[in-house]
This record gives sequence, structure tokens and C-alpha cells, in this order.
Amino acid sequence: MNRYHAAWVVPIEGEPIRDGWVSVDRGRIVALGRRAANDATPGTELGDVAVMPALVNAHTHLELSYLRDQIAPASSFTAWARQIIYARRMNPTDPMALQVRTDEAIDAAIDECVRCGTAVVGDIGNTHAAFRKIAASPLAGVFFWELIGFNLPDADFDAIVEHAVGDLQELPATEKVRVSLAAHAPYSVAPLFFRAIKKAVNKMPFVPCSVHLAENFEEVELLMTGGGPWKALMKDIGSWNHAWTAPGVGPVQYLDQMGFLDNRLLAVHGVQMSLADLETLRTRGVTLVTCPRSNGHTGAGLPPIADFYESGVRVAIGTDSLASSPDLNVFAEVSTLHALAPSVAPAALLESATIQGARALGFDADYGSIEPGKLAHLLAVDVPPGTSDVEEYLVSGIHPGQIRWVEAGWVGRAG
Ligand SMILES: [Zn+2]
Repeated sequence: MNRYHAAWVVPIEGEPIRDGWVSVDRGRIVALGRRAANDATPGTELGDVAVMPALVNAHTHLELSYLRDQIAPASSFTAWARQIIYARRMNPTDPMALQVRTDEAIDAAIDECVRCGTAVVGDIGNTHAAFRKIAASPLAGVFFWELIGFNLPDADFDAIVEHAVGDLQELPATEKVRVSLAAHAPYSVAPLFFRAIKKAVNKMPFVPCSVHLAENFEEVELLMTGGGPWKALMKDIGSWNHAWTAPGVGPVQYLDQMGFLDNRLLAVHGVQMSLADLETLRTRGVTLVTCPRSNGHTGAGLPPIADFYESGVRVAIGTDSLASSPDLNVFAEVSTLHALAPSVAPAALLESATIQGARALGFDADYGSIEPGKLAHLLAVDVPPGTSDVEEYLVSGIHPGQIRWVEAGWVGRAG
């Protein structure tokens, strides 16, 4: 049994504890509390740190890590999307070299996640490249095999999805890294494809599903009017479906009418969501995953963070990929949320970065808070001596150099 003493213990479920302690046995949390003045129980003194649960990055695309610093900030989302589509479609002169670059970038990205205090990821892939890397790493999480297809007029979507599920079942998934399906977005997945994906996910043991939803204005325009920059882009790349007719409703209503919104779903972005949309998500039990730095980079615009929290919808946090985010530091994402919505309680932001993501991904039995029985994948974050509002400090920007991992043993400074 190890006992750790710290200036602060931030359990997430419950108020921060000044002069706190956490005891750990064989990698699991046993108990926690506040040290009384006369408490002489021996323990490892961690000093001026906040001990807190490891973070959850609920939305990333590790396989795109090779595009770090390659995609310029854009003034509109479709302008950004054009860059990334062309970057990914460019025929590499040497496919093997690209594979090596992709693999090396995924390795570096996983190291960065761990250095930044992340233990659980929701990772989206269009190849299986990241799955094995995550499985071999300290990270836990869900690998989402993302399906895209809008212009598939005569396709048998059930057969396509069944085939994808078959591929997934060949991956050596474990309790630590689980697999599921994701639909890319309303503008890139045909309506019958959405229905087939939902049907397949509902048949799987309880795993989450994911979709990019209401990320950009052009998406809303396409669904409402059937035209706009998305149609132009889809035509240019040969992906436009001439048989498709616009539903005449926004993205949230569109997927709700298809029965796609439920408590298994992570709806990512929500930049264009109205209060009514957020209420729909709340009543369906959907978790909204926000990635504000990515939204700024892609030209999607800033998400209505204060509305997200006021609506009562569950909010988790993702960095999105290194093609649209400067790093994979969830603490930096949190500080962006704090700057965008100073009225939101720091405690709520910290919940989003931990327990909300863990719950949405199905990992809350082991992660997301400091509670007896959960894994002791804990962080010790340096805080200035005499810090009085530790939650405010933690949401104001933590850099990797301040983060150490406390596990069953004292493992020292990360990285
Ligand atoms: Zn994404």
C-alpha cells in the first residue's frame, strides 16, 4: 500500500481537498481524505502539487499526426477541408516512406498524449494504423473505424457496414482498447449509411459511436438548402450524389429524425448548435465533444461554450487531430474553453476533461475521478505554493513540464 500526500487532491467527484492524501494498493485507489494537523501517518510527500485523475482526450485522429503544421489555418471550413482532402489524396511517390512517416508520427503523438497527462482517448481512424499503436501504449480508449460515403447510389449499406464490422473484429481488441464504428459527418455519409451504422453499433456490446456534427456553417447550409460550398467541393472531388435531396432541417434534427442520437453517441464540435439543438442532445443523452482550438484553426468559428454548459448537455473535450490543433495537450484545450467562457465554473471544465469523457467512452469504472476502486492513473500537477483556488489554476493553462504521473509507484517526471 502506498500513501501520497499533496497540497491538493482534486477528486473531480467531490470538492478539492487541501492537504489531501490518496492511498493506492496494487494500482487501484483505496481511499482519500484530508490530513488532520495531528495526522502522523507516513506517506510519500509530493509537495506543492494537485493530485488529480488522468485526462481523457475524447476526440482525436492520431493517424493524421503526420500532417502536423502542414495544413494552414483557413477562413472557412470548406477551404480547410479542401487542403486536407488534397493532402490525403496526393499520391505519394513512395507509399512505404509515407507509411513509415505515419507510424513515426503516431508514436510521437502517443508520447505527447502521455506527457500531457492523458490516459484515455477516443481515436478516429480511416485506416487501422493507430489501433495497434494505442494497444501497445499506456493509453486506453476506443478506436473508432470511421466510415465515409455520400455518393454510393446503389450501395448495399448493410453489407458495407457488415464488412467493416468484420474487419474490426479481426483487430485484437481488449478491455483496454475497444473498437467501434463512427460516421464521418452529415455532409459525407448518405442517409441510409447512417441507418446501417446505427443498426450495427446497436448490435455490438455497449460501445460508443461518434459523428462530427454541426461543425460548420456550410454543413447547415447544405442540409437546409441543398447547396453552398459543400456541394461545390463534393462535386469537385466527385463525391456529390445527384439523387440526394436536402432534408430542409439542421444537422441535429436531421440525425435525430434518423434515430442516430442516443446515449451511445459522441457528437463532436457543435459549433453551429442552437439552444434547441442542445436541448435535443440533452434529452437524448448524447455527449457533446468540444474541440475549440481546432474550430478556430479550420475556420469553423468559435463554439458557444457558455451555451453548451448552460444547456445541461454532457460536455467532453477533445484536441482533434494535429492537422488542426497545435498539440495534444487537453489542459491547453481546457484553458481555451475557460478563456472563451469565463462564466463556466472551472469544476465543470475539469469534469469535462476527465469523468465526462471517461463516461462517454465507457471507461468510467476505471478512470475519470479519484474514487476507491478506480485505477490509480493519477497526475501530480505542479501548483504554486499557497495556491488557494486550485480549480481556477488548473483551467488556466498547464504545460507538460508541470505534469508527473503518480501510479502504484512514484514514476517520476513524465517524458
Ligand atoms: Zn475530428
